[in-house]
Amino acid sequence: MKRFSNMFTWFGFAALLSLFLVGCTTPPSPTAATPRLYVLDCGSIEVLDVSLFTPGIDQGKHKLLTDSCYLIVHPKGTLLWDAGLPDALAKTPEGLLWFEKFRLKVKHPLEQQLQQIGHPAASIQYLGISHLHGDHIGNVNLLPKATLFMQQEEYAAGFGADPSQYGFDPQGYASLRNNPVKQLHGDYDVFGDGTVVIKRTLGHTPGHQALFVKLHHSGNILLSGDLVHFTDNWTHKRVPSFNFDKAQSLKTMNEMEQFIKDNHAQLWIQHDLEQNAGIKHAPAFYD
Ligand SMILES: [Zn+2]
Repeated sequence: MKRFSNMFTWFGFAALLSLFLVGCTTPPSPTAATPRLYVLDCGSIEVLDVSLFTPGIDQGKHKLLTDSCYLIVHPKGTLLWDAGLPDALAKTPEGLLWFEKFRLKVKHPLEQQLQQIGHPAASIQYLGISHLHGDHIGNVNLLPKATLFMQQEEYAAGFGADPSQYGFDPQGYASLRNNPVKQLHGDYDVFGDGTVVIKRTLGHTPGHQALFVKLHHSGNILLSGDLVHFTDNWTHKRVPSFNFDKAQSLKTMNEMEQFIKDNHAQLWIQHDLEQNAGIKHAPAFYD
């Protein structure tokens, strides 16, 4: 009996020890409780005459831009920021000539990238679009149930009488008309804790917006939308010739420069090829 009792004690101890070890070896997951940012490759844009972006400079020069999308995974939900070029372009490896000014290519369909990181498009709850130009809305049809966040001026322009005057092609985002929508009148704190904030940054289009993200380890990041397209234009505060409002664009750039300083943030320029080459892409993430 004593021996049996000893065995029982031994088994009890072993069971307790194994529970303790399991407790110790299961990695803590602080990231599960804080936001994650995934950078997604949503295509490339060869600009045939970069002076569109740099009026009076570099006429006729080519420049290659990236097209970036981002997934934010927050403890309270998921947000796709911008929807890139259409996945269908992946079937045309030589690319598509657009308005005789740009050659557009997609190598890695967004839908596949989202599946690979365990967040299929249909599961994403929120959709933030910086603006309605064709290189930012290409895959909105993959998220028909997501709640759309858009400045009221952008929504009015996009679904008004003549969207083409703003460079919008309504066919490209027709499905958005059926998404639940929250029209914004300023900055918007998506999850209510200050970690993911849509910034009203008018000028490029009537209701352009950017996204400010606060990460636990990686710090504060402003995702540019098309506030600026590449670093040299940020340095020199140049406004592309096709912006909706040049004066407002300059005012917004200066305000955002101050905002970035005040918040010790990095500016991630979504179209900047060289900057994106130094940023890790999904399935890796920032947290
Ligand atoms: Zn763009």
